[in-house]
Amino acid sequence: MSKIQKATEVSGQEITTEDLALINQHTIREFSAKELFVFKTVLCDNEIDRDSEAFSRGSLEKMAELFLGKTIIADHEPKAENQQARIYHTEVVEDGRTASTGEPYTKLIAQCYLPRLNSNQNLITEIEAGIRKELSVGCSIKKQICSICGKDRTHEFCGHRKGETYDGKLCYVKLEEPSDAYEVSFVAVPAQPNAGVTKQFKNQTEAFDSLDQRLLEAFLYLRKDDAV
Ligand SMILES: [Zn+2]
Repeated sequence: MSKIQKATEVSGQEITTEDLALINQHTIREFSAKELFVFKTVLCDNEIDRDSEAFSRGSLEKMAELFLGKTIIADHEPKAENQQARIYHTEVVEDGRTASTGEPYTKLIAQCYLPRLNSNQNLITEIEAGIRKELSVGCSIKKQICSICGKDRTHEFCGHRKGETYDGKLCYVKLEEPSDAYEVSFVAVPAQPNAGVTKQFKNQTEAFDSLDQRLLEAFLYLRKDDAV
């Protein structure tokens, strides 16, 4: 299982009656449009990213289910006062473009709401002003499939290097079978060229019995760190 973290952007939007109906499914009392602020964000897409990784359409559809109803927190700190907004609608859409993988470009859009409280006003103003626009998205992924040979790199060392081409085909990793959407967080610091994307790997060695395989896995780890 691998934990994957990606950066994304937010933008404000109008509240429709459909939005209100969806939002009020998550609230204890009815809220009016005046009491709420909503924004939308592309949580992730199926384009090959700067880590030479791409979610599949199936992964995006699964994440649409997993992220629905999740709260958005501040600065990766999931304490109560840092819970700032909730995702009330998710949808997977194509926009007519083609991704570098050759598949139709597909993105997972999330719509989020927060109540207009005095304590939220700074955040709302920052989103409206385009200052607070970075979100970091974290999920657990069961399979990382090599685009060249089809091996699951979470369990097997295949030798292909992400970002290199083999017989004219780019090697990238297809992120398959998301199992948990564990975090959506506003990040305080605007992203550096490589910031906002961090990965943690856990429990990977459980699948291996022999020492040789463990050594291969350790080698893979080092090369992954190299690539980031
Ligand atoms: Zn491979």
